[in-house]
Amino acid sequence: MKQFKTESKRILDLMINSIYTNKEIFLRELISNASDAIDKLKFISLTDTEVGSNFYIKLSVDKENRTLTIEDNGIGMTEADLEKNLGTIAESGTLAFKKENQDKTDSELIGQFGVGFYSAFMVADKIDVYTKSYKDKTSHKWSSKGVEGYTIEECEKDGFGTKIVLTLKQDGEDADYGEFLEEYKISSLVKQYSDYIRYPIKMDMVRSRKKEGTPDDKPEYETYTEEETLNSMVPLWKKPKAEVTDENLKSFYKNEFHDFSDPIKGVYAKIEGAVTYDTLLFFPSRAPYDYYSKDYKKGVKLYCNGVMIMEKCEQLIPDYFGFVKGIVDSADLNLNISREILQQDRQVKAIALSLEKKISAELKKMMDSDRENYEKLFKEFGLSLKFGVYAGFGANKDKLKDFLMFYSSKQEKLISLSEYVKDMGEGQDAIYYACGESYEKISALPQIEKAKDKGVDILYFKDGVDEFVAKILIDYEGKKFLSVSEADFSLDTDEEKKELENKIEENKELIEAIKNALGDKVKEVKLTTKLKTYPVCLTAFGDVSIEMEKVFNSMPNADGKVKAEKILEISSTHKILDKLKTVFAENKDQISKYATVLYEQARLLEGLAIEDVPAFVNAMSEIM
Ligand code: ADP
Repeated sequence: MKQFKTESKRILDLMINSIYTNKEIFLRELISNASDAIDKLKFISLTDTEVGSNFYIKLSVDKENRTLTIEDNGIGMTEADLEKNLGTIAESGTLAFKKENQDKTDSELIGQFGVGFYSAFMVADKIDVYTKSYKDKTSHKWSSKGVEGYTIEECEKDGFGTKIVLTLKQDGEDADYGEFLEEYKISSLVKQYSDYIRYPIKMDMVRSRKKEGTPDDKPEYETYTEEETLNSMVPLWKKPKAEVTDENLKSFYKNEFHDFSDPIKGVYAKIEGAVTYDTLLFFPSRAPYDYYSKDYKKGVKLYCNGVMIMEKCEQLIPDYFGFVKGIVDSADLNLNISREILQQDRQVKAIALSLEKKISAELKKMMDSDRENYEKLFKEFGLSLKFGVYAGFGANKDKLKDFLMFYSSKQEKLISLSEYVKDMGEGQDAIYYACGESYEKISALPQIEKAKDKGVDILYFKDGVDEFVAKILIDYEGKKFLSVSEADFSLDTDEEKKELENKIEENKELIEAIKNALGDKVKEVKLTTKLKTYPVCLTAFGDVSIEMEKVFNSMPNADGKVKAEKILEISSTHKILDKLKTVFAENKDQISKYATVLYEQARLLEGLAIEDVPAFVNAMSEIM
């Protein structure tokens, strides 16, 4: 007996003991695996006529032995495939599973992983898989009764494909597994979940008829079986648009892309133009656990006239829209084209262009008329759009800038850049933003306080990439981006500016002494009117902002060399200035201690660590 990998065991355990109410989904999972397997063989059959053509999925029940069998004549599995596919659950998935999901409920977990084949353990206490790969002379049987492990042995099997025999659990108080042996139940589940599957899902149905030769007034009946196809087999994207409901789209999505949650939106379109194709596009409601990692593979399913030629065609979707799932079916493609050539194919490129336009248009529509859902989407995938703006030196920034949203200090919700600019007061000529790790931390920045008082809107840049995005965009509708931590940022009127100039003149020597005391730590010391209750703040000069310094220095190979050129700004209206003046008048040497304390305080306010703890502590206690 072979052991399942540790993490697979945990998922199995979860399945076996699951109280998940939607147990019936196991059937659509197995049918959709069977359909995928046939898709694969059908593709091969285009060039290899040996492998057959009469494709189908067959369901059968045996009430006596309590078995439900799902059989396909698809691609099948070799011994190595069995080992790899059914002995373990994808490595990356299990890793995330271990780390992040200690406190999730069963349904959430099952939902998150869409644990395909394993879901059969919700209803079966024994599973036998008989399979023959089109590549293989021998057939194999995989058997498992759950967590203890599985066996693989050679067996007899006619024809390519896979036959899965589920021995259903005994009925319990809370669950009636026996219903999966009832024809009406099976047939209604197929209708509900798998109707559009493109291959016939057949089942022998028991019928009854009048026995021949028995009199009409005293008829006798006999039973017989008749094979029936349970599904309509029309792919959803080949149905007339008017017949496709939102519900159809949702269940198709969940089925096809193994997601247990509804998509935020499904789109069905028939595109005609430079290229002609049918497409179903979906915006998932949740980022897959590996979305922002290298493991994630984007792409849409590509069909040529109903024959799947590629499971994930990445060429059709740009990275920044990598979250979009869907199907493209076009008759314009060359069926016999190899996968390598497909990548440079003109038609594929044309579809990609058109698809991107379609996705953009749908996003725009959602943003304008369904803001709630757009925000949901943005919270999950906004980072992807931001990386898109930043990537390739901003090559795609103009396509993407209008999809960005940032939190507005004034409106206290996410707004677009265009909305920000529209609401800008007269005289404001830049888009103001403030950086920080969280909304709370940004709200606590000294500069924000004053801006709020003056009714000026400030965008919160909470993600590490936000400021880089602003630098790449340079401006939006001619308005430059200006950080509230940048030296140029001022909300003053002319009068206030004049007043400040006078104060600067008066305190020239004092300020110089503070700068001298701090040496290279700061590039400049100056007076400011931007603060309300705080005595000091730090701003940056030049290209590297304080927030960027933090981002750089939190990277794995940081050497601490990237530093913002800092300016220590002292509030011209705070009573600290009077105190400094007095100290400076009485004893010039004392000022360096005050300088140290002010500088370190300003660092703390910006979310930086104290630079020289002993010096700070000493200076502080001496002053006290
Ligand atoms: P998923 O379908 O999401 O990849 P599953 O656990 O359902 O995950 O299946 C794991 C793998 O086992 C599939 O990717 C496929 O390679 C293989 N497999 C499952 N069912 C079949 C089948 N009926 N025929 C051939 N291969 C299959």
